Amino acid sequence: MTGAIDEGPRAFSCRDVGYACEWSLRAASADEVQSRFRDHARCAHGLPEVSGELAARVAAAIRPA
Ligand SMILES: [Zn+2]
Repeated sequence: MTGAIDEGPRAFSCRDVGYACEWSLRAASADEVQSRFRDHARCAHGLPEVSGELAARVAAAIRPA
């Protein structure tokens, strides 16, 4: 463990949480990934909100970038 808080560039691909979708992003932090995923899920997948269960799957799929 580095002791660092969850910071630094992060990458995420929508398909990693099970969507047949090519959307992916890099963001400055895991929080930003979650924020941008919420927008994407609403616009592209018709999800009015991201459930806690889906947010947890997103968190698990976020990688250092
Ligand atoms: Zn998607």
